[in-house]
Amino acid sequence: MTDPNGKSLTIIGAGLAGALLATLLAQRGWSIDVYEKRGDPRIKGYVGGRSINLALAERGRNALRQADADDAVMAQAVMMRGRMVHFADGRLQLQRYGRDDSEVIWSVHRGDLNITLLELAERAGARLHFDRRLDRVDFDARIARFRDDRSDESFEAGFRALVGADGAGSALRAAMNAQSPLGERTEFLDHSYKELEIPPADDGGFRIEPNALHIWPRGRYMCIALPNDEKTFTVTLFLPNEGDPSFATLKTTADARALFERDFADAVPLIPELDQDWERNPPGLLATLYLDRWRLDGRAVLLGDAAHAMVPFHGQGMNCAFEDCVALARRLGDGDDLASAFAAFEAERKPNASAIQQMALENYLEMRDRVDDPDFLLQRELERKLQERHPERFVPHYTMVTFMLIPYAVALERSDIQREILVRATQGLDSLDGVDWTAVDAEVTARLQPLQDAP
Ligand code: FAD
Repeated sequence: MTDPNGKSLTIIGAGLAGALLATLLAQRGWSIDVYEKRGDPRIKGYVGGRSINLALAERGRNALRQADADDAVMAQAVMMRGRMVHFADGRLQLQRYGRDDSEVIWSVHRGDLNITLLELAERAGARLHFDRRLDRVDFDARIARFRDDRSDESFEAGFRALVGADGAGSALRAAMNAQSPLGERTEFLDHSYKELEIPPADDGGFRIEPNALHIWPRGRYMCIALPNDEKTFTVTLFLPNEGDPSFATLKTTADARALFERDFADAVPLIPELDQDWERNPPGLLATLYLDRWRLDGRAVLLGDAAHAMVPFHGQGMNCAFEDCVALARRLGDGDDLASAFAAFEAERKPNASAIQQMALENYLEMRDRVDDPDFLLQRELERKLQERHPERFVPHYTMVTFMLIPYAVALERSDIQREILVRATQGLDSLDGVDWTAVDAEVTARLQPLQDAP
């Protein structure tokens, strides 16, 4: 049993957020126990098998730096400079994310990242308990019950307070909700995803440009591919659940292959095991989770996907979860009692989580339907020009979310204003020649205050 009064916490889930939070707190002298339902990935290999990768951006890197984890993670990361758009007619176009290579995102392997963070957590003194699935919680007696899925045995552990880093299907959230309703609502997207793989080329290198996030935008659906440091790419097909084409109409591997040959023709020769991958990997659901409350007084708090799962189209779920970890560690270090620290954490992070949830939903439309659209490309061109003319005021939406640390809510508010300016200024134009620069400059100055990044 952990000390009921001292600096001790019990974290549920040793995934990305759980492992990082354990490291941050253990490094600051906290006594940390982490319970994870799966086996130790350092012994058994990461469950999930193949190379599933994630885009790491500045918010995530900033959190990793605070845990001294950035160097170890970056040693295996692959730089992505921008979107490599694969047009339907076979043309390719690299759309840079930022101004130069100081503004890029990084593809990291989920399993390797998790293992790196677990090792750091253990080295910092956190106690990791694998094969322990949270099953039930008695919040009054402060006792949590865990099961070992291999033997079906039960274990009990006392706690001072629980932190739920157990992902979108959080068992701790369910237990808290049963104790005192959290106002939970899940909105499923009517699209799902399936993962496929591009293996290395015969000479052991990458088969396509490695330093890009590849996108095949096709209106109502799309494919993306992110590089892995072992020279593979993880391909993800995002497709509606209903309609044509959809997961409902692709009943056989032959149907899937026919869709790929028609709409993603240049990808087909890159995915030699398309049929096997299609059969092996079930479609994954996509949803946004909304909660009115993330905490139960000083006894439990949620973060990461357990608090605010989002659709993956801004590549920010993990980055946001990592920011949560930094914020909670900071609040816990303020010396307040746990209830006050959890309340301050929720007040700080909840509006920002809602903002990135909304931006992630909006970005799906942009990725699948807009990146090959002339209006959109003209607006991007104007965006770059306005950034040059007003570097302090007009900061592109993607830059604010991806390369800065300003609160997501601020990025959302400014992005909405900027979108209005871009749309209005380019209406009816097919080049920037006809832009009324005097009017646009005046609007930028009037509506956008100079922006400073968060410390
Ligand atoms: P998780 O990573 O889900 O970890 C939860 C952990 O808790 C797991 O280890 C699980 O085994 C454990 N657990 C679950 N239940 C229990 C229990 N009862 N008892 C004990 N342990 C339990 N984010 C990005 O930033 N960039 C991206 O490019 C990106 N791409 C994505 C692509 C897809 C297709 C998807 C679905 C998501 C993507 N995300 C991305 C989001 C990202 O994966 C999540 O936001 C991130 O994993 C959240 O971390 P977490 O630690 O909160 O939850």
